[in-house]
This record gives sequence, C-alpha cells and structure tokens, in this order.
Amino acid sequence: MAINSRHCLSKIFQPITAVSKTANIGHKDVTSKSQRLMLELGIIQQANPGSFHFLPLGIKSLNKLKKIVDDEMCKVGGQRVMFPSLINTKLWENSGRLENAGPELFQLKDRHDHSYVLSPTHEEAASELISSVSPLSYKQFPLRLYQITSKFRDEMKPRFGLMRGREFLMKDMYTFDIDAQSAKRTYEEICESYNKIFERIGVGFVKVLGTSGNIGGSLSHEFHFKADIGEDKVLFCNGCNYSANLELCKSHTCPKCGVEKSVDISNCIEVGHTFLLGDKYSKPLKARFLSKSGKPEDLQMGCYGLGLSRILAASVEVLSSEQEMRWPDTLAPYNVIIVPPKAGSKEEKSTKDVAEKLYTKIEDHIPELKDNVLLDDRLFLTIGRRHLDARRVGYRYAIVINQRASENVPLFELNDIKTNVQVYLDENQLYQYIKENTLL
Ligand code: ATP
Ligand code: MG
Repeated sequence: MAINSRHCLSKIFQPITAVSKTANIGHKDVTSKSQRLMLELGIIQQANPGSFHFLPLGIKSLNKLKKIVDDEMCKVGGQRVMFPSLINTKLWENSGRLENAGPELFQLKDRHDHSYVLSPTHEEAASELISSVSPLSYKQFPLRLYQITSKFRDEMKPRFGLMRGREFLMKDMYTFDIDAQSAKRTYEEICESYNKIFERIGVGFVKVLGTSGNIGGSLSHEFHFKADIGEDKVLFCNGCNYSANLELCKSHTCPKCGVEKSVDISNCIEVGHTFLLGDKYSKPLKARFLSKSGKPEDLQMGCYGLGLSRILAASVEVLSSEQEMRWPDTLAPYNVIIVPPKAGSKEEKSTKDVAEKLYTKIEDHIPELKDNVLLDDRLFLTIGRRHLDARRVGYRYAIVINQRASENVPLFELNDIKTNVQVYLDENQLYQYIKENTLL
C-alpha cells in the first residue's frame, strides 16, 4: 500500500484552539457543549453567527451520515435531485406562504429588480418542477424526489452551533401520489424509513405527533433526541403511550386519555419532521397528473425533512461529556486511531513498522473499517499526550504500540474509549474485539 494513502493525523487540518482564542465568536456565544467541543477540537469553525465552515473531520462524519440517508432513501425508491436555493418569490406568493413567512425568510433582489427567496424548504420548488412538466400520466407515480442541500433561515437567535444555524444542511424529500390513500401509504413508508435511519445512527430517538406549523398539511410527525438543552417539549403518556409535541397538548394533560398524573414532559431536539400535505401546494402551483380517464387532477404530496447538520451536533450533544467528545460508531470521523511510540524512545526502535503494518491489516481484516483507521504520526508528542487527544476527539479505539508489541507474540494495548476498557490483545483477538463491539 502506498504510504500516502494512509490517513495520518499530522496531515489533517484540525485546528485545536480554545474558543476564546478564535475570531468570529466570543465566549458568551457558546451555548452548548457540542458547539464548544466541535469548535475547540477542529470539527467546525464559525464563519458568521449561524453559519459554519465544516473542517475535514466534520466532513468525514457528515459524509457517513449522508451515506446512511442515501442508502435508506434509495431503498424506498427515492431519486436524488438538487433544487436551486434561489426561488422566485412569485412561487411563494402563489402557494400562500409568503404572507405568513415573517422575518425568518431571507429575501433578495437581483440586478433586474426580480425578487427571490433563499429557500428554507422546497415545497414550492418541487411542486413547480412537476407543474412545469404537467400533466404527467398516472403511470409515473408514485414519485419520490429528495435532495441534500443548504437551507437558509434568518433565525432570531442562531445558537448551539450546528443545531440552530442560519445556513444548515437538510435532507428533504417531496413525494407525489395520485390519491389520498396512496399518499398515506407513502407517508407511512417514509416514516418507517426514518425509523431505520435513526436506528442505524444509533442514538436513542422518539417519534411523536408533530405540529405542522408554516409548512402545513393534515398529519405530521417529529423525530427527537431527548436532551436537556432541547428547545422542544414533548409529552409522553405512560397511561396510553401517546406522545406528542407539547404544543399540540392544551395543558400538561394527555389529550388522548385525559390523565394528567401519568404524563412525562421532556426537553427534546427535533432532528426530523414529516408532513402529509394533501394538495396544499399542488393545487395552487398546478402540479397535476392525467388520470385513467384522461382528466387532469391535483397530486397528493408529502414532505420529509432531516436536519443533517443538526443530527451530527445533537448526537455529539447527547453522547459527550463536558471535556470529551463522543460519537455514535456510525458517525465518528474515524473509528480506530493507532498511536506508535514517541520518536527517539527505546520502544520506537523495537517496534519499527509495527503501526503501519497493523494499519494495513486492520483494513484488510475488517473491510468496514476501510478509510476509518487513523495513524497518529505526531511522533514528537508522548504516547500519553496523544492518547489523551484521542480520548477528547472520541475515536472509539485507540491502539497504543508499546514495548509489548515487540514480544514473541506481539500484544497491543487496546483502549476502548467508549466503555473505558483497556486490554492487551494479540492481533486476532484485536480484530475479534473490534468486530464484536462496533456498530457500523
Ligand atoms: P425548529 O422548530 O427547531 O425551528 P422547524 O420545525 O422549523 O425546526 P422544519 O421546517 O421541520 O424545522 O425542518 C426540518 C428539519 O430541519 C428539522 O427537523 C431540524 O432537524 C432541521 N432544522 C430546522 N431548522 C434548523 C436550523 N435553524 N438549524 C439546523 N437545523 C434545522
Ligand atoms: Mg419541524
């Protein structure tokens, strides 16, 4: 294997700095632990309030999340597209959303005095696309289009880092069906696909009845991570298992069984939201199909959002301690970091090339770990210091190469950073341990 195909920490652009020492952000702007950890450990950098540079480790993690989402969207017949961010304001007038939009909507004019919105979601764009080729035959439905793009919202208080940005990454799907029953089936299928996505991510989540707010529609669900800093309140009824955003409940009483004592209310972070829209957008924007009898009819729509950048930060928020970042195995920028001895130490001489060989063998024995192993080649630092860094960034396994790796049967110090276990294992035991304990 060519040397430069190895992922080496010394080559990664990961500026590690206390927030207080970076530009564009002050101490008081740090409002959550995930925000501070991700800024200080070089995962993201703030550009403006609510907009961020994603640095290489952040991109690595984000790409893993996109892969899970693409995979599951593909399984339900999703076709990936990309709508423009600049949307003609007329479409928003036609859908009726402009008058209720408020100051959260970014609006701008071009040099010819034409008005545009920077889209916060794309119901109008998706409907207009279908309308521009309407009427399609009923045979071409159901149609499920999705995209992964930046969304823009002039949030009153951008905060908590990636969790409430003004420019953030969303996966949004728009579905088109020929009647209400098939639209409902589609809705259930996509909700089930969201369950699978969150199960794969591996952070505990809840799905509850949601509010349909400015987007509208007849049925809506939200997906949440429970967390103290969450800005939504969700009601769970122990009596009848009903759960909903508290905004849907009149008081602290279960709206279904009417019992007050049996409800729990938790702070939650909304990570996904689904809407059954009916013809709210297709009717005014004329997204139609030709029925069997040759009559043009309005399509029935659904829309489905996942806040990808928010999911990353919320995962870190839920799993981390104040000092150390933790990731679900599925989203960690790397799963394994190998820490060879310090330059000039006696261990360095007796374990020459061991780290590099182990790197290659791990990738060969555990194909899922291809491109997920990192070599901490900052050999000017002590093992202790690099081990500490590995803990802070939260790689799942730090494998330390020390004197015991030069014994007849080489033994490796495996630090399982998630479970706080340290064991000496031979090579095969090492692969076995990683295979059995990692959710990839
Ligand atoms: P919130 O109530 O948190 O403001 P929302 O209900 O307005 O969110 P939706 O329109 O449902 O958001 O957007 C779909 C998803 O996009 C949300 O479930 C969330 O995960 C994500 N999201 C929404 N606003 C932001 C934001 N400002 N920054 C990051 N992610 C966001
Ligand atoms: Mg929402």
